[in-house]
Amino acid sequence: MHILIIEDDLAIAANLYDFLESRGHSADAAADGIEGLRLAVTQRFDCILLDVGLPGMNGMSLCRKLRQVSQIDTPVLMLTARDTLEDKLAGFEFGADDYLVKPFALKEVEARLTAMHKRYGGKVSNRMLEVANLSYDPKTLLIRFADQNVKLPPKCIRLLALMMSEPGRVFSRKELEAEAWEDIQETSDTLRSHMHILRRTLTKVGGYDPIETIHGLGYYLIPSARNQD
Ligand code: CA
Repeated sequence: MHILIIEDDLAIAANLYDFLESRGHSADAAADGIEGLRLAVTQRFDCILLDVGLPGMNGMSLCRKLRQVSQIDTPVLMLTARDTLEDKLAGFEFGADDYLVKPFALKEVEARLTAMHKRYGGKVSNRMLEVANLSYDPKTLLIRFADQNVKLPPKCIRLLALMMSEPGRVFSRKELEAEAWEDIQETSDTLRSHMHILRRTLTKVGGYDPIETIHGLGYYLIPSARNQD
């Protein structure tokens, strides 16, 4: 893989760089947000390792600009010292795909990058999905709800696509986690965070939440459109 490391702590950056190169990957590095964004936009990378606390422009802003302004969907693994739910939610909302809290094991970084890369390589089928007011085109990643375009982070898209593949069926947390995160262990907080973003975004766009929770079991997508009065 060709990996961009955006990290201002030079010791961490050098560690990541040396490790990834020793594992057969190639890497580029930037020590501030502005240079990082410039590289991310002007060159092609398989994955981006992004520190949250950066001079110039922080990781959250960088990620948002990358997704929203530059429309670049290279997978982003965020690195942060702060382990709070708010930060995780913010990171995902700004378009990060995964999250690692410092200090981390280098092997863990590689495992997550590999998993992100594999998913990005297009595991989801290319079948167009349509359920009530919702549609999802896997070829363009375009989601429409109530005749409007919906912008969602990649993991939320995968969760939604899985539920759309069998509307009305209850998907357990395990199944949803397996779809969105594959073999990487994640806490249930992460699934909850993504579900929260997904449902809040859909409600904002379409005026109602098309996902139902079955407590203790999982989630399902309502197969028919809800009447809006
Ligand atoms: Ca930093």
